[in-house]
Amino acid sequence: MRIGIGYDVHRLVEGRKLILGGIEIPYEKGLDGHSDADVLTHALMDALLGAIGQGDIGKWFPDKDPKYLNIDSLLLLDEVMQKVASAGYRIGNVDAVVIAQQPRLGPYFPAMKQKLAQHMGCGEDRINLKATTEEHLGFTGRGEGIAAEAVCLLEEI
Ligand code: MG
Repeated sequence: MRIGIGYDVHRLVEGRKLILGGIEIPYEKGLDGHSDADVLTHALMDALLGAIGQGDIGKWFPDKDPKYLNIDSLLLLDEVMQKVASAGYRIGNVDAVVIAQQPRLGPYFPAMKQKLAQHMGCGEDRINLKATTEEHLGFTGRGEGIAAEAVCLLEEI
């Protein structure tokens, strides 16, 4: 088995869609970034790349590369999962937490899990998603950005 950890942050701004776990969530602001800025999927990808000892998403998908401008992060997740499979591993389980003061994310977790399970080639029972606020403290608490943390365990195929 192999274990990995991921962490990511994106700034909340007006005029962008809020995409988390591949799902568009209705909200007055969205996350800013070179790609679709799906902070949850980015943390998951970093955990997966960490588990196979292949660096991080900045190494494979540089944010200077126009190829990745506004790209759907699930397409990047597909590429990461190809690397996981090539290394001889599959998902054991993943666990992630999204740190956001707003909006409430619980209602969207079933759709996110379904989407992520499709792209990670595993059952939804192997994916756990959580959300927390930071009690109005810090940049997430002030609504300036959203952070996500993820861990994964991979099993040998
Ligand atoms: Mg990111």
